[in-house]
Amino acid sequence: MREIISELTQKLHNGEISSVELTKQYIKSIEETNPTLNAYVHTTFETALQGADVADKMLKEGKASALCGIPMALKDNICTDGLLTTCCSKILDGFKPYYDAAVWEKLKIQGAVLLGKTNMDEFAMGSTSESSCYGAPLNPRNTAHVTGGSSGGSAAAVCSNMAAYALGSDTGGSVRQPASFCGIVGLKPTYGAVSRYGLIAYGSSLDQIGPLTYSVKDAAIVFDAIKGADRRDQTSKAFDYGNILEGLNQDVKGKKIGVAEEFFDGIDEDMKAQILEGIKLFEKNGAEIINIKLPALKLALPVYYIIACAEASSNLGRYDGIRYGHRTDSYDSIDDMIYKTRSEGFGDEVKRRIMLGTYVLSSGYYDAYYKKAIVIREEINREFNDIFEKCDVLIAPTAPHTAFPLNFRGASPVEMYLSDICTVPINIAGIPSISVPCGKDAKGLPIGMQIIGKKFDEATILNMAYFYEQNSEDKVGIYEGGVRI
Ligand code: GLN
Repeated sequence: MREIISELTQKLHNGEISSVELTKQYIKSIEETNPTLNAYVHTTFETALQGADVADKMLKEGKASALCGIPMALKDNICTDGLLTTCCSKILDGFKPYYDAAVWEKLKIQGAVLLGKTNMDEFAMGSTSESSCYGAPLNPRNTAHVTGGSSGGSAAAVCSNMAAYALGSDTGGSVRQPASFCGIVGLKPTYGAVSRYGLIAYGSSLDQIGPLTYSVKDAAIVFDAIKGADRRDQTSKAFDYGNILEGLNQDVKGKKIGVAEEFFDGIDEDMKAQILEGIKLFEKNGAEIINIKLPALKLALPVYYIIACAEASSNLGRYDGIRYGHRTDSYDSIDDMIYKTRSEGFGDEVKRRIMLGTYVLSSGYYDAYYKKAIVIREEINREFNDIFEKCDVLIAPTAPHTAFPLNFRGASPVEMYLSDICTVPINIAGIPSISVPCGKDAKGLPIGMQIIGKKFDEATILNMAYFYEQNSEDKVGIYEGGVRI
């Protein structure tokens, strides 16, 4: 584990390196490594060097924040004014938004340096990043394996030291699962903790933006910088977190950790052993382990795929060839143009979900599927609320297995959906969760442990994750290549 952001902040602030020099090192490493890993789909080196220049001035004036001058990456579904934002879909080919997403606006003001936009599953729909129209990114830990998804490019860029940190989006696990597959940290904040303004919508009641970093402290720094209410996202809320970074050092003694056996059903044995060992470390340090039941967990996957697809089918209605990106070459009428544009522009997985979503919302099936899913969502929320009456956090695996080999899940969409079982319940309930590296499996691939908290209690899960990271043996380590300061 390396606290890359803190280390770089120190070096930038005491003048050991300038942001421009640092940015050039990152650019060089991207030029060398990205052709193999395919983590970035659009690089923004000119913008980066301009940003670094501004950051150096801020640093000189002594006005710089912790993230000032630090090179980073954004998932390709986060809007950047005048810079390609394509959701890795042909339908948004060449699309350059006219505004910045709230998160990028905030980071830019703080002097962040944008290296580029990262690879992802088309419209964030997937768990391997293989549905990207630019081809899959490769897992830096083992290039025969996927990065996970959908924020796979963000995870690969951070893991391979091609960015000091990155932002991803998490609708059903897309920050946490790729972080776990690549052996880094991923935080999904509470729904409403971070503005979604300028995040291209997938499932609006589930989507959240979160950081991918090498360490828990780095995740806390980035979360601190992007959180907060925004009038342009009516679901965002102001919450007084106090000093999150100071809170990292708290003791775990007396903390109540819930463990639900349902999360461990059918997961790989070596993974189970590592996570149980992680839980023991907390116990040894005075935390209380409480065995709990989460019977509604088995309903979470169908509920998620009904709600996410329903929302996606509505959100993706806007891509009609008139306003954005791709338009078909020849057509007879406006209907024909829309039909051909959408047929050519969307990939198979996106089409499948639009069809599923349209089906569950159609008048004959609405009650049987969508309405029922909404009712069961409430039941899942109730179960989580009851658990958090008794527990401070829950600990679970991030995914039921480590990174799949490339092209492994492509054949069966349902099999791929099943692999989201540990992450989707958290989005359904809108609660925060962090994935931290927790050893490796027998194949040497990283395992992720999820620490799940109450709404707006990021401070506790970050504190618990930090404690684990500081007090456990680092079995995953840092990738050898890329920028090493
Ligand atoms: N794998 C999940 C899906 O395919 C989650 C994706 C996400 O969080 N964006 O929907």
